[in-house]
Amino acid sequence: MSCSMLALKLTLAVSCPQSHTFLPGVRFWSICLAPGFISIDCGSPPSAGYVDVVTWLPYVPDAQFVDAGVSHNISAEHAGMIDLKLPRLYNDLRSFPTGARNCYTVRSLTPGTKYLVRATFLHGNYDGLGPGGLAVFDLHLGVNFWQTANVSSVSDTFQAEIIAVVPDDYVQVCLVGKKGLGTPFISGLELRPLPDTLYPVVANASLSMAVHGRYNLGPDDEKPIVRYPSPHDRVWKVLANLRSWNPANTTGTVRYVAGDQFEVPSAVMQTAATVDDGFSLRFYWGAYESNKELDYFAVLHMAELRRLNGSEARICEVYLNNGLWYSKPFSPEFRYSSSMFGMVAGSTEYSFRIEPTANSTLPPLLNALEIYVMVPTAERATHGGDVSAIMAIKAKYEIKRNWMGDPCGPKIYLWDGVGCNYAISSAPRITSLNLSSNGLAGEITTLLSNLTALQNLDLSHNSLTGNIPEFLAQLPSLAVLDLTGNKFNGSVPESLLKRSQEGALSLRIEANISSINNDQPQRKKPTKISAVNLAVAAVVLSVLVVVVVTLTLCLRRRRTENDLSVRPLNGSKSKEDNGDAVSLQFDTRQFSYKELKTITNSFEKSIGKGGFGVVYLGYLEDGTPVAVKMRSESSSQGVNEFLAEALHLIRVHHRNLVNLVGHCKDGQHSALVYEYMSEGTLQEKLREKSPNSVPLTWRQRLRISLDSAQGLEYLHKACTPPLIHRDVKAANILLNGSNLEAKIADFGLSKAFNNDLQSHVSTRVVGTPGYLDPEYYTSFQLSEKSDVYSFGIVLLEVVTGQPPILPESVHIVQWARQRLAKGDIESVVDDNMGRYDLNSVWKVADLAPRCTEQAASQRPAMADVVVQLKESLELEEGCERVHGSYAGSGDGYGENSDTASQSTQSGRVLDLVSGPAAR
Ligand code: ATP
Repeated sequence: MSCSMLALKLTLAVSCPQSHTFLPGVRFWSICLAPGFISIDCGSPPSAGYVDVVTWLPYVPDAQFVDAGVSHNISAEHAGMIDLKLPRLYNDLRSFPTGARNCYTVRSLTPGTKYLVRATFLHGNYDGLGPGGLAVFDLHLGVNFWQTANVSSVSDTFQAEIIAVVPDDYVQVCLVGKKGLGTPFISGLELRPLPDTLYPVVANASLSMAVHGRYNLGPDDEKPIVRYPSPHDRVWKVLANLRSWNPANTTGTVRYVAGDQFEVPSAVMQTAATVDDGFSLRFYWGAYESNKELDYFAVLHMAELRRLNGSEARICEVYLNNGLWYSKPFSPEFRYSSSMFGMVAGSTEYSFRIEPTANSTLPPLLNALEIYVMVPTAERATHGGDVSAIMAIKAKYEIKRNWMGDPCGPKIYLWDGVGCNYAISSAPRITSLNLSSNGLAGEITTLLSNLTALQNLDLSHNSLTGNIPEFLAQLPSLAVLDLTGNKFNGSVPESLLKRSQEGALSLRIEANISSINNDQPQRKKPTKISAVNLAVAAVVLSVLVVVVVTLTLCLRRRRTENDLSVRPLNGSKSKEDNGDAVSLQFDTRQFSYKELKTITNSFEKSIGKGGFGVVYLGYLEDGTPVAVKMRSESSSQGVNEFLAEALHLIRVHHRNLVNLVGHCKDGQHSALVYEYMSEGTLQEKLREKSPNSVPLTWRQRLRISLDSAQGLEYLHKACTPPLIHRDVKAANILLNGSNLEAKIADFGLSKAFNNDLQSHVSTRVVGTPGYLDPEYYTSFQLSEKSDVYSFGIVLLEVVTGQPPILPESVHIVQWARQRLAKGDIESVVDDNMGRYDLNSVWKVADLAPRCTEQAASQRPAMADVVVQLKESLELEEGCERVHGSYAGSGDGYGENSDTASQSTQSGRVLDLVSGPAAR
């Protein structure tokens, strides 16, 4: 060891800050242990921890913090330039040629700690491309943008620093490439904990600030940057002395008082810039070109460097862009730091001027300067528990996907196979995880139980073995569990089966399961059952439970003379049903197949065809027409699903819900018999284009909309428990008689939920494309607002006559919103509608977009929709009374649009075409 090295060692030993420990015992040198410092050398060999001879801080390789990227050394030519002044971490780097976002994850932090995070970069021609290899990329701290790293020189170092409160026990620093702007890379990553008292403007995770500049003023230009062991290892760069500035300095220590918010090192405060007598000291910076909206935080540090005699005074005022920035004249204290600080914003250039006051005998001085950019932290990071869980799952199964950074945020970097729920007021939660066909082996990990918001878990087509664990049933929101195509043994846990039977869980365990046994509750001996049978059993039992619950409730509410009862297969009244484990008895007429044949005249006249089969016209004994919906053998859905509709219909009775007359369950044959709706569906009426067809008038459309809305309102609010229809569409609105009374039909997908206890239920997504609530589609959370969304689409169809998906594949919501936003209602309204009151149409044109708001919480309830439609109808009817000539009589007053637009009596229509009327 040379003498100079020894001298350095001794110097360092005495200069360790008090809070740091001097660590003896290292053979050739000693280290100042700085508690909480994390120093990572990016790209260094995995086993190559070392103590840096410039900072005397220990550095570790980056392998444990990142699992992507490529290690490189800088070129020999540039390595030769690395001298003792430059920390060793610049010798190598890690580049990220693939992946949109690559992240370092630093764990085992104390949540809520304030950190100075520093990323350092030296290109050093590592790729041999010279300036051609330079890169511009973004840095993110967690889910939020930190700053753009513009590495514009092969040989210069570049540093980015941010002060932030880390909310969790980990933090992620991500490099996000920009298309065509080179390969992101990083040389070093350093975290320095800061006391809460420091930079109090950063009080919590909602605000952080990135260093725009941190300068030491007044030293020789040759003086190296000040950093560790000065407090907190901040980097204080030398601000080159301007020609008009005069340097000042002292060898005495410059202190700060206890509780100082900035704790500027004495080495920085010992020098200052001043100016000639009578001059002001000026500096300025321009706002970032790329974002002029950003707020800045400026801190001016001053300390008097010589003891002034009685006749001397240094008093100054600080101006920003010609306004007084600091309210009072200010005198720096002898060898004590004072700081002026504040937020500056709203300008493209920030020009500071420190002026001597009239009674000042000395010019102003400035020892140090810090400028920060406030970093917006609008993005929310995923719930901490979910992050820990998914990271551990990733490690456990050695998942090879590019799962980097935060799983849910920002949305554009959502992890592949992960779905999240983004609430406004809380952190995003992981709600779905698709690890299908990922080569997973071993048992299902209990780590999954920590994803407590999980609704949809797909582990299908892997090589998972062992038992299906019980804990899956404890996941409170799990609605879909797909375990298909694995190698499980043993039984499906009872608790899981029970949830499936209760209809709370869609359980898929079919195919390739080697040997799953389950004791069926009713049977004494354990029997092997196939996965398919299990699924059937689940459906059957879930129907049973629904039947029991709904009928008990309906009965309690509305006791009728009819004795409604549901009996299991062995019940005395029921018939054997060809293998189906459930027998239903309704308070509706039971038809035999033979009777159906008679009333339909051997299924003579088909009036429609749906997913379950053909619908036939029939006549009861008294001549009442009925619609007979037969379940075809080829129907993909089971008999119990078919009859599920009946279970709902027997408990709902409303003028605007189609009435169930009876049902048939006779051997192979299943059928539902409804009141006959002579005028078909709303969809047919809107789209009918034959020469003889009479288009629906606006009033008729309104009447139909109101009827349907009332039917839905009843389902949501008057029915106990409430029912969500789940397939509201124009094809499921049936019309009857000359007055086109409308009724909601097709309750096959309806779902009951207890409104008192739940605002939504988690289910598998069902419905019809074009009408599907996007929030339900993405979150699986179903509420009555999903029906409101679908009804909003119906309203748009009613106004425009267009289908939900227009021929050019544009969704009707998008199409109509664009036009309505411009006040252009004429281009939206169905040409075939004839005359209408514009206020009335606008009311519905306003209502429909509200019903189809993206966020369910923003949509009105059906009760509100009913009120709005009633008002709209009143407006229309009022207008008809005034302009009798176009009102015609009754509902059948449809006129074509030509006459309507030419009529002078429809002046009100013409007055208002340019924009929304007062509503
Ligand atoms: P899916 O069941 O696949 O959603 P859907 O609702 O069109 O389709 P169904 O309810 O089986 O299927 O009806 C098929 C067609 O039969 C309807 O479009 C309609 O034309 C006719 N229809 C159904 N019920 C009646 C009824 N009560 N009165 C008159 N026609 C009916």
